[in-house]
Parts: sequence; C-alpha cells; structure tokens
Amino acid sequence: MKQARSKTVDIDHARVSSDLIDWFLQNARDLPWRRTLDPYAIWVSEIMLQQTQVKTVIPYWEHWMKQLPTVARLAAAKEETLLKLWEGLGYYSRVRNLQKAAREIVNDGGGTFPEQPEAIRALPGVGRYTSGAIASIAFNQPEPILDGNVIRVLSRVFAVAGDPKEKQVNERLWALAKELVVRTKAGVANVKVGALVFAGQRAALNQGMMELGATVCLPTKPECERCPLRGHCRARVAGKTGLYPQSAKRAKSSARWFQAFVVTKAGKFLIRRRDEGLVNSGFWEFPGAEVADANADPSKAFRELFGWTPDQIEAFGQLRHSITRYRFHQSVHRVEWPVRRRMRLPESEWVTLEEIRRRPFYSPQLRLLKELE
Ligand code: SF4
Repeated sequence: MKQARSKTVDIDHARVSSDLIDWFLQNARDLPWRRTLDPYAIWVSEIMLQQTQVKTVIPYWEHWMKQLPTVARLAAAKEETLLKLWEGLGYYSRVRNLQKAAREIVNDGGGTFPEQPEAIRALPGVGRYTSGAIASIAFNQPEPILDGNVIRVLSRVFAVAGDPKEKQVNERLWALAKELVVRTKAGVANVKVGALVFAGQRAALNQGMMELGATVCLPTKPECERCPLRGHCRARVAGKTGLYPQSAKRAKSSARWFQAFVVTKAGKFLIRRRDEGLVNSGFWEFPGAEVADANADPSKAFRELFGWTPDQIEAFGQLRHSITRYRFHQSVHRVEWPVRRRMRLPESEWVTLEEIRRRPFYSPQLRLLKELE
C-alpha cells in the first residue's frame, strides 16, 4: 500500500530573504519613523509600538518627537510632561524606562545612542526584541527580531510545530530569525525609497517580516496569493496555514470590580495623584477603590475612602476595559461634597475641568473624563 506523503519545500534562506526585501521595498507603508535613521526616534517608536497598534502610535510619536526631539531633551524632561505625552498609551512603565535609559545614555555615553547590540540591550526597558530592532533598523546589524508578526510568518514558512510561547519553540523561532538575518548581506547603506529610508538589507529584511505579518500573513486569513514567500512557505504548500502558529488557548480572563467617585465641591472636582509603587503611579485619577463584586455598596467604599457617608450617592455610569488577563468593571458615582467638610484624602486636590485636562490621566480614567465633558 502506498503511503501518503506530505508535501514539503526545501527552503533557500537567501531567496527567502531577497524575495522579502524586494517586496518590502515596494510595499512598505509610509510610517513616520521610517523616514529617519535616528536611533533615538526608532527606539521611541519601538517602545510605543509594544502592545499598541500602529495607527494609535503615529500621532503620539509625532507629538513626542516635536516635544522631545533628542535623548538629552528626554533625559531632562519633567515626569508630568512625560506622563502627559504618554497619556492613553497604557503600560506606563515603558515611559519611565525610556527616561531612565535616556539618563544613562546622557550620563554614561555623553548623549550618543549606543550602537552595539549588547550595549543597547543593557538599557532599562530594552529586551531582546527591542535591541534587535534598534540594532538592525538603525544600524543595519545582523541582529534578529521576533514579535507576534514575525512569529506568525516564520511559523508558517518553516512549519514550526509547537506553541511559540514554549521555550524550545521560541528559541527555534529566534534561531530561524537569526539565520535569515545573518545570511543577508549588508547591502547598500541608507537606501531611499520616496520619503522612506532604510539602513540596508538587514534592516529591510527585519522590517519586511514585520510588515508581511501585519499586512499579508494575517492571523485568520493570510493573503497567500499576494505573498512574496508563497513559493517558499511550507504551511501554504501543505494547505495548512490555519495550523500555524500552534499557539495554546489563552487562559480565561477574570473579572475585577471597582467603584470610582466623581466628587464635586463648588464647581471643582476632587482628583488624587497615584502613589509611588502603585500601578500607574504619578498619574491623576478620580478617587476609587476595588470592591468584591458588582453588588458592592458604594456608600461603604465611599466611607472607607473618606471617613463619612453622604446622604446621596448618584449613579453616574459604568466603564469596562480589559488588560492582559483581567476584565475591569468600574461603576462610577457622583457625590456633592459639603462646602464646610474637610478633605483628608492624601495627595488630593480640588481642581477645575480645565486644570484636569492639563494633568496626566491613565486610559480608563480618560474615558471617565470624556463622559464628564
Ligand atoms: S504564503 Fe501565506 S501563510 Fe505563507 S507566509 Fe505568505 S501569507 Fe503567510
């Protein structure tokens, strides 16, 4: 009896690389950080793009680069300025690490952005992916990158079995990314394509893989017919693109409940600054607390925060958002503060709506602010 043999493809790394680079140079989206080879500007874009979509990042990055165009300006910026520039992007440890790293570059490196991958990697907030991205995109070094888009492309082209989050599988994907980039010649430096500029072929290869994953090799419906790697791709040839990457199902998210209070007195609002050591520290918020469930009594939460119970607590609205494995439900209440009663909440201030707009607020609080406006 004849045995069924699955179709396989011999992969020529140099061809994969050159086909991808040719395609990328003709199809690269015009993104503002692709118009520069300034490692500082590329670094800021890479940090902003972690966990955040390109279209969201563009206006943030443009505004940031106008306000803080150099490492030295970032190193010297006030915390409140930084938080305001990052307001709404979330994952705020990113912006704190940016400034820590900028201060190291200014104090230890005389303000010159490091070029060697190890030195880039040693900066606060810079991991394996980001150091590879900066080293390759700004300096055309043969350093690999591996993000969600690249994982998808490599898993399919090389038909990599197993969950990419598992260490062994992840290391295999890093090794494939490394092999592709080290087999790619440096090529002509600083290639201009319209307004865009690429440091060389290695830069274009890495950016091309990310671009392919973001625009063609899509998670549920890869557009193989217009893919430059269709002739190399083992998953496509086997008709099994849906099987890769073989990510394990995510754990179910769990719900958490919060109550927030919009407290007003004579036309002003009570806000407080989050303490050092807390998530979102340094940002302002409407005071609130985590509660047991959706049925928790708001007057109890109010009393625990402020030490007294108001006669009237008015329901104002409900907000929902999700972060990583949590679904947050926030019920918001309005309370009028008696003019003569003293306020003892630490780090709090009575401010107008105009003043609130000048202070940095973190993402879910911004939505509450919009509701108020
Ligand atoms: S051929 Fe299809 S599955 Fe393979 S890399 Fe291209 S788009 Fe992705």
